[in-house]
Amino acid sequence: MNINFKNKKVLIRVDFNVPLDSDYNIKDDTRMRAALPTIKKVIDNGGKAILMSHLGRPQKKLKEDGSIDVEKFTTKHLVNHLAQLTSAAVKFSSDCIGESAQQMADNLNEGEILLLENTRFYKEEKKGDKAFAKQLSELGEVYINDAFGTAHRAHASTTTVAQFYEKENKCFGYLMEKELENASRVLNNPQRPLTAIVGGAKVSDKILLLEKLIDLADNILIGGGMAYTFAKAQGGRIGKSLLEEDRLETALEILKTAKAKNTNIYLPEDSVIADAFAADANTNISASNAIEGNWMGLDIGPKAISKFSDVLDHSKTILWNGPMGVFEMEAFATGTKSIAQAVAAATQKGAFSLIGGGDSVAAINQCGLADQVSYVSTGGGAMLEFLEGKELPGVKAMRS
Ligand code: AMP
Repeated sequence: MNINFKNKKVLIRVDFNVPLDSDYNIKDDTRMRAALPTIKKVIDNGGKAILMSHLGRPQKKLKEDGSIDVEKFTTKHLVNHLAQLTSAAVKFSSDCIGESAQQMADNLNEGEILLLENTRFYKEEKKGDKAFAKQLSELGEVYINDAFGTAHRAHASTTTVAQFYEKENKCFGYLMEKELENASRVLNNPQRPLTAIVGGAKVSDKILLLEKLIDLADNILIGGGMAYTFAKAQGGRIGKSLLEEDRLETALEILKTAKAKNTNIYLPEDSVIADAFAADANTNISASNAIEGNWMGLDIGPKAISKFSDVLDHSKTILWNGPMGVFEMEAFATGTKSIAQAVAAATQKGAFSLIGGGDSVAAINQCGLADQVSYVSTGGGAMLEFLEGKELPGVKAMRS
């Protein structure tokens, strides 16, 4: 961000893909607020900020006649709130490319903002189309990518557009920088022991992450629905718990590789079990490998909480991706809450903790502990891919 923005038209890719209610009010503005430091820097330096983003999936939800549902997906819904957040004049262009957009960009005054219409109104956006990206690039003399949440997509506004700028005229925004810096603290030379907490529903979603972690981490704590595929693979009885039959071999393979590489994998010794997948089901505690009949494991149990917390207490770097149970239901949220508390306590003692991935972010927010961990990532899929060791197209494009 050490480009001089004074009097320059600065095209900024932000991630304003915020949830809207049925009256198009913003339900959660976290993503907009996350981009503010970059936007403010540009306008405070006398730049002209031209913002582009996608909002929802307009191409997937076309109207009956095959046209775009503009009313539903227009970024115009965000204009007033953006003006409030930035205390700046915000103009809106009902097309993200073309003559009218160009004119509005050219007529901006220093310190003003132009919000472009949803980039995904064009099919070319997701295709990473070069001609479309070139048209976007003509709107700004400088390009900033601050959309970490979409950095794993090779789309026109996140990736292709960067090729139309010389190195000295493009850079990452503050959010993007922060995300990459924090993730790198886990990936490159982390302080040890490094403990990764991996939860969530499916083994299949987390295989690449687990494979990477076996090489990287000292300890891996496995919770959530995926733990039962591991329990079953080791010959346990898991009742009606979540099971991915076709991943039993994979689970065994992961355990074997971890052993060979001296990485400790901890599976939950016990579970909170329920006789139905329901908030008001009857519950009990059981060994995770001796769940009978119609019962299912929906949270880690007290022994598992105690063991996991102890490992976290001795950790110097912590990465958390995925909840320990069905935390959306109060009866099965204790494991996730307790782990959140253990992560906060370890952070208090000096550990570096990164919460990366959609549902663990929701969980840490739900526990009110987001400000007691080192960093909470804003990019679910992008963070997961980065941690898996993949090069994100949006990042690569800025470096070439
Ligand atoms: P993921 O998106 O893969 O991180 O998975 C998150 C989802 O996994 C949440 O909606 C949880 O409710 C769900 N989940 C966590 N633990 C379990 C479990 N033991 N059984 C079924 N679903 C679970």
